[in-house]
Amino acid sequence: MAFESLSERFQSVFKKMRKEDRLNEKNMEEALREIKVALLESDVNFKVVKAFLSEVKEKALGSEVTRTVSPSEQLIKICHDEITALLGGDDSELTLPSKGRLMTYMMVGLQGTGKTTSAAKLAYFFQKKGFKVLLASLDVYRPAAIDQLRDLASSIGAGFYETDARDNPRKVAKEAKNEALNGGYDALILDTAGRLQIDEPLMGEIADIAKEERPDEALLLIDASAGQDAVNVAKAFNDSVRLTGVIVSKLDGDAKGGSALSIKYLTGLPIKLSGTGEKVGDLEAFHPERMAERILGMGDIVSLVEKAQEQIDEKEAERAAKKMMSGEATLDDMLKQMKMVQRLGSLGSIAALIPGMPKLSDADKERGEREMKTFEAVINSMTPYERSHPEVLRFSQKNRIAKGSGKTNADINRVLKRFEMYKKMMEEMKRYKKGGKFPPGGLGGLGGPRGMGGFPR
Ligand code: GDP
Ligand code: MG
Repeated sequence: MAFESLSERFQSVFKKMRKEDRLNEKNMEEALREIKVALLESDVNFKVVKAFLSEVKEKALGSEVTRTVSPSEQLIKICHDEITALLGGDDSELTLPSKGRLMTYMMVGLQGTGKTTSAAKLAYFFQKKGFKVLLASLDVYRPAAIDQLRDLASSIGAGFYETDARDNPRKVAKEAKNEALNGGYDALILDTAGRLQIDEPLMGEIADIAKEERPDEALLLIDASAGQDAVNVAKAFNDSVRLTGVIVSKLDGDAKGGSALSIKYLTGLPIKLSGTGEKVGDLEAFHPERMAERILGMGDIVSLVEKAQEQIDEKEAERAAKKMMSGEATLDDMLKQMKMVQRLGSLGSIAALIPGMPKLSDADKERGEREMKTFEAVINSMTPYERSHPEVLRFSQKNRIAKGSGKTNADINRVLKRFEMYKKMMEEMKRYKKGGKFPPGGLGGLGGPRGMGGFPR
């Protein structure tokens, strides 16, 4: 399996950290040195290594010491998050076909990276989701390549575009597109020719096809065992064809995997799919987080540390609550609270557990998230003094905030109004707390749809 040696090296770093009682400059220096060697030996680009180490260091030395989480576990969690980010965070979703609107996919890359195989795998992947797929080969220079795709198409029962116009890939692409449109297909997958290295005529040809057919996804194949050069290849293809993502093939081999870890950081291109074998079923949606877990081999520990962090959040919530009760709450506190409530997961699922709580639709949830972003933008554009004394805001300040945040004066007024409500709610809580009773109907629905985490109409 790919990443094996990297994985072993990480494990050894974590193991050494088990003897320590906290992450400090000294033990981190040693850990980082080892991680650095491990990454470089796995062919991860040195710029990426540098950025990775500096993030890990900063987070490790800035992390809170808790009784429930050991330094080793803490380091695992930090590395896990940083590897996830390197692999693309949550930016890895492939555009799926949709019924009634043809989506076009184009496979590009050097020869032997797995374009043809992946074209068929992708077709199979879509077919399992109920879509009708047409495959077309633009590799006009090698009859064997066309035969290869035809055979694969027939083995999965996908459509294959046959043509006599085998001398001009642009023409084949155009005809195939027409055929897909007329034949009621949901997806057209174009397999293109590759070279052993980048060359001008090939780039020009692929650029022309991309310009004419405007694929919804232009996917670059990268062989997991490709070294540092993969990044240059990606840049060159991206200059000719506006790539939308990468497929990493041959992850089932014993590749070091450095290209996969470098590509997003250096090119901005997310890895969207991974090939894990030669068969048509061996294609998977790429999940950076799961891949990070596999590299570090520590999924359960990551969730354990996450739980402990939630406890830290709880403490923070208590602190914030005390502050609110004292009547000193600021807009920052309100924002922090709103975020906490939102982090509790989808408000919808929480609301669903509470009897009598109205169900939130997806649209409600979306509105809530949008609202939250607006609030955050507005509050971030205020000075610290304004955040604790919003009553000083006059028209000119509001204009400044509106400009700074890209929001409107109405948005700002909504934030202020919500803050008023929030303060009133706090007052109410204080009174009832003194009286030892809760207000009828609960605490104004702190986390509920109409409370502070909710959405004013
Ligand atoms: P193309 O030249 O880019 O079209 O590459 P092909 O699709 O013809 O693939 C080249 C070789 O790599 C073939 O022997 C494939 O079976 C093999 N291959 C492609 N993807 C994978 C993969 O994910 N895992 C493994 N083990 N082999 C693969
Ligand atoms: Mg091919």
